[in-house]
Amino acid sequence: MKMFCIGNWKMNPTTAKEAFRLGENIAEKASSCPQVITVLCPPFPFLAHLSSLSFALGGQDCFLEQKGAYTGEVSPLMLKDQGCKYVILGHSERGESDEVVQKKIRAAVRSGLTPVICIGEEKPSSPKFLHKRLHSRLQDIPATVLLKSLLVYEPVWAISTTKGGKPATQEAVALAISAFRDFLVKEAGERVGFAIPILYGGSVDKKNINIFLKAGAQGVLVGGASLKSKEFTALIAEMELHAQTV
Ligand code: PEP
Repeated sequence: MKMFCIGNWKMNPTTAKEAFRLGENIAEKASSCPQVITVLCPPFPFLAHLSSLSFALGGQDCFLEQKGAYTGEVSPLMLKDQGCKYVILGHSERGESDEVVQKKIRAAVRSGLTPVICIGEEKPSSPKFLHKRLHSRLQDIPATVLLKSLLVYEPVWAISTTKGGKPATQEAVALAISAFRDFLVKEAGERVGFAIPILYGGSVDKKNINIFLKAGAQGVLVGGASLKSKEFTALIAEMELHAQTV
């Protein structure tokens, strides 16, 4: 089973030179771990600088239309043209409505990108609450579109930059993944429901990654640790080992 190790650099680093150096340090490990799909999501201006390196590229967001008079926006077609295969959508730091995220998901898939859809909660909740969240975020998204997406359980309370943020426990992640899976199977049927990868994001590092993999996550979305090449390559290596055992 292929695993996903997705790095979200957010608004870092500040120069193309630093971005390339960080990318180069990660690329070597990524290319020696074939069971892991390593995806880096740098700021838009650095995409072209990294496109020659051996990992997949993703955008951190995209607009909900493909072209037009939308000052400051970046179209999913532009991301595709810059070599992106993935795009993170609905990250909690962006504070977008479900309706906007749904339009972006459709635009991304129409443009040939794989959406990495973030869904979580502000404080530890229950499977019932997560079902509600999934329902409002994915409402009216057809199974054909879901099948081309990755879902991330990304609890805001576990993100390293949230005040008091601490990683979720293995039990919490296992429970959330099973709530996600139940929802998908109910909404889209067994074939689609079991085919969609479910990832975890929130304070992942090399010391705790194994608990999320054991909880059933098919990969991780990583913020802070993706900016440290030693830490991020250690995550890729752990995932490669895990992938060989499942
Ligand atoms: C995130 O912001 O989605 C995230 C997972 O960040 P971090 O790994 O720093 O907690």
